Amino acid sequence: MTALVLSRIGFAVTVLERSDNSFRTGAALHVDHGLLARLTGNRMHNPLAPGIQSWFTVHAGLLGAARSHPLIDIRQGMSVESVGQNTESAWVVAANGQRFGGDLVVGADGHNSVVRRTVSPEKPNATFAGYSIWLGVVQESSLGPNVRWPSETAFLGGGDEYLLGYPLPGSDGSVEKGHRQLGWAWYDSSRNGLFREKGCVAGNVVSHSLKAADVPEQTLREMASDAERWPSLWHDAILDSIKRKAVIGTPITEYVPDRLVEGRLALVGDAAHVPTPMTGNGFRASLLDAEALAECLSGEVSGSGPLQSSLVKYQTLRLNDVRRLVQSGQDFSRNFAASRTRGQP
Ligand SMILES: Cc1cc2nc3c(=O)[nH]c(=O)nc-3n(C[C@H](O)[C@H](O)[C@H](O)COP(=O)(O)OP(=O)(O)OC[C@H]3O[C@@H](n4cnc5c(N)ncnc54)[C@H](O)[C@@H]3O)c2cc1C
Repeated sequence: MTALVLSRIGFAVTVLERSDNSFRTGAALHVDHGLLARLTGNRMHNPLAPGIQSWFTVHAGLLGAARSHPLIDIRQGMSVESVGQNTESAWVVAANGQRFGGDLVVGADGHNSVVRRTVSPEKPNATFAGYSIWLGVVQESSLGPNVRWPSETAFLGGGDEYLLGYPLPGSDGSVEKGHRQLGWAWYDSSRNGLFREKGCVAGNVVSHSLKAADVPEQTLREMASDAERWPSLWHDAILDSIKRKAVIGTPITEYVPDRLVEGRLALVGDAAHVPTPMTGNGFRASLLDAEALAECLSGEVSGSGPLQSSLVKYQTLRLNDVRRLVQSGQDFSRNFAASRTRGQP
């Protein structure tokens, strides 16, 4: 999104993305009506359907739009390892030793941001919130013919148990009966010991999700039994995911920023701030960051203003709002993390 809005105001943007094109999964995000047109300024742009969409669909739609823009150069499989700057320019160095320089570096590298380490060396890491979310996506066709399809997100549970269930279009975008998907996200504070044992969490830092192949059989059996507490549609969806061993576990982090910029470096999205998913607002906050950054930099393409002061303006616009967003979820996180533990804390 940042690449799209910056290219729209004339910046040439190089996007360095460490992952390749293989299928990646995630939860669901709410897409505003006309998102791509808003980002690109092009009303004829291929629409990314509004409503709840899988992370993968949103990512694919944005990537497609970025790929077709002549000012955006996307390099996949390029993992950034370090960041630097002087008064003239900023740069990153990738794992293969390649160096990329420019007028500024925008860290849009998620909750475990490398760029944040240089922007906020005194507070480089998002911290483990004390619970995780198990995620699965199920094909409608696997759930039998008589399913009553939900029209909106189901929010179930309370206290020490939460389940979000959401209807999704099919992976081809289809909303036809029989072709759709159901997603579920199950909040769990009882298995922190497992995530530590598997190396996903060390101290209070989260390094990665627990991949489906690494979820122990015993955990899947326990989850299958615990899932009985949910209404049959969601119970069946969870059992289907468990049967296919298509369940990933994501330890949740939080980060309240003290700053968003340093010199020629700026942070957006989860690199800048990590709210609990319970706020349902991480994606929207990332969009607002991108737009605010473009607004503040719009005089810069001609080289007319001091870039650093435009970035400070961006920080002034966004810092209080994003701090409040993260803080708004922290009571939930503290209570939920304390609600139940199984195994190690
Ligand atoms: C379980 C879960 C459920 C959620 N549910 C919701 C929801 O319902 N609604 C909502 O609004 N938000 C939700 N969120 C939050 C939302 O997913 C994030 O706010 C959003 O994805 C942030 O986007 P981002 O681009 O900043 O970071 P990311 O989506 O994390 O993208 C960062 C990118 O940077 C790449 N990268 C990382 N490090 C490097 C590196 N060193 N070099 C190169 N590339 C790198 C990664 O591969 C990735 O592609 C949820 C999050 C989770 C974990």
